[in-house]
Amino acid sequence: MNGENEGLSHSEEQLRKLREKVTVLETLDQYRQSLLRLAGELQKVHTYQDITKVIQPEILNLLGYQMIWLFLFYEDRKAGVFVTVRGTLADQVMETLPRLEIVGDPYLEAVAAATDILVIEDARTDPRTNKEIVAQLQNRTLVNVPLWLVDERLGVFGMGSFGDEGIIIPTPGQIEYLKTLAYHVAVAVERTQFIMQRQEQARALQESEERYRLLVEQAPVAIAVYYGDMIAYLNPAGCELLGVPDAAAILGTSMMQYIHPDSLPLLQERQRRLPQEGRLEPAEEKIIRPDGETRDIEVITSAIRYKDKPAVMVIAQDITQRKQMAAENARLYAAEQERAEALLAALARQQELDRLKDEFLQNSSHELRTPLTVAMGYVDMVADENVGELQATQRMMLKSAQSRLYDLYQIVMGLTTLAVSGGNSVYRDQVHLTALVQDIVQDFQALAAQNDLTLHTNIEPDLPPLSGNPIHLGQLVDNLLSNAVKFTPKGGTITVRLFTSETGLVLEVIDTGIGVAPEQMERIFERFYQVDGSATRRYGGAGLGLALVKEIAEAHRGRVSVTSAISQGSTFRVEIPL
Ligand code: ADP
Repeated sequence: MNGENEGLSHSEEQLRKLREKVTVLETLDQYRQSLLRLAGELQKVHTYQDITKVIQPEILNLLGYQMIWLFLFYEDRKAGVFVTVRGTLADQVMETLPRLEIVGDPYLEAVAAATDILVIEDARTDPRTNKEIVAQLQNRTLVNVPLWLVDERLGVFGMGSFGDEGIIIPTPGQIEYLKTLAYHVAVAVERTQFIMQRQEQARALQESEERYRLLVEQAPVAIAVYYGDMIAYLNPAGCELLGVPDAAAILGTSMMQYIHPDSLPLLQERQRRLPQEGRLEPAEEKIIRPDGETRDIEVITSAIRYKDKPAVMVIAQDITQRKQMAAENARLYAAEQERAEALLAALARQQELDRLKDEFLQNSSHELRTPLTVAMGYVDMVADENVGELQATQRMMLKSAQSRLYDLYQIVMGLTTLAVSGGNSVYRDQVHLTALVQDIVQDFQALAAQNDLTLHTNIEPDLPPLSGNPIHLGQLVDNLLSNAVKFTPKGGTITVRLFTSETGLVLEVIDTGIGVAPEQMERIFERFYQVDGSATRRYGGAGLGLALVKEIAEAHRGRVSVTSAISQGSTFRVEIPL
């Protein structure tokens, strides 16, 4: 510079210097004014695009760079993103650019490392730039100014020249201008980020509110919110429960109008407890709808904040049907219980009667036997003419008395056997059933003939004897045979079979008589049971015979059974183990 100005006069030199100074001052003023203007405008922006939009014309005007950008760092400057790139033409505005890895890209690494302005004079020759991109974008000078905010670097604010514009290197004054501008840009970026975060939060909040609103609106349970007792919110299920067409009609009114008077004390008690407890256990309440219908509901009550005010949230479920069913069940249960109790009482009465009957049986049989034996003894003595000869009429009468007494004796013996056979103190001996059966059948032949019945036996030869009570076993055969005779009409046949089975001996008395109806087959073995009154009168008897047969069989560890068909005949079968 000195060499060039050697020939100039002093005043000329002074004038030149003065001009130069004025130019510098003018330029400085230009920058100062630009900064003032931009600082003011940057305060108003809240998008990245607006930041570059505000400053791009000034940069082009003052420095000549056509293109500017904002590149922000992520994650300790390991990655970053161009949030906005803007050139002089509309299509040079780019809004969303992908995240870039800084690590591994020498140019971006240099940008991220620079704490002060970084000027790459010629991108075509600089070793750090990617030559492919440079060729494509025709970059020449690249200037990146760090965006410092207090002690943090948010990213860079960059600018560059392209192709024919050639290399543009900023002067020290311009560098100062850029650094000051970068501060205002950093503040604008920070504000933008803050606003974006807030917007994002608001959006997320709105989304989650929307989701919850949907949940609450579609919930199958009634949900209501109150301020005190004023309805502030009611979901559709709540409207349905209350029987109101839509919530708008009742918002702001008191929910008390829906509470059944019976539930008021409980409700008040819960309202008192709610502030301390925050959430109350489920409770059953009754509501009354505008149409007068009452409903049972189960409610869960919690204290919440709704639209920034303390409120009460109630979740309610209609349990009317459930309660009705429970009541019905309780009623059915009580009725069943009553029936069961009545049955039990009847059973107890029956058992008591049975016990009394047994007791009576035992006592009376013993009491009757002695006098009867004595009476029979005297009658026999008289009939045998031991005390004097009898006239024909007297003999006939005594014979009749003897026969009646004998019948009576049989009955009393039956009662006695019945009374004692339950115990174990029964006399036992080796009994030859063949002989026993043959003797008794022999005794019955006359009676059978009288009734026009055929009576015969079918006995397996060489049957072994069994251990038992001969008198009782004789009574067993006797009873079965007298029943067969009694219940078989004239012309019938009675067969007595005796044979061995796998476990012991089997006695069968088979008749072709009136038979036993299936429903009677169990009962005829009960004491005093007779199939029916008219039949009893027709056939006589006390209803003890089969009970005795059963008890005697069981006292011999055996069992008795019957197979029969009405009007066809019956087979009574006694099995006694050996
Ligand atoms: P009873 O003969 O004294 O009435 P049982 O105990 O011997 O009493 O018999 C009970 C009832 O069983 C009889 O009343 C009768 O109705 C029925 N029954 C017993 N044996 C026969 C039989 N062989 N054929 C048809 N019914 C019978």
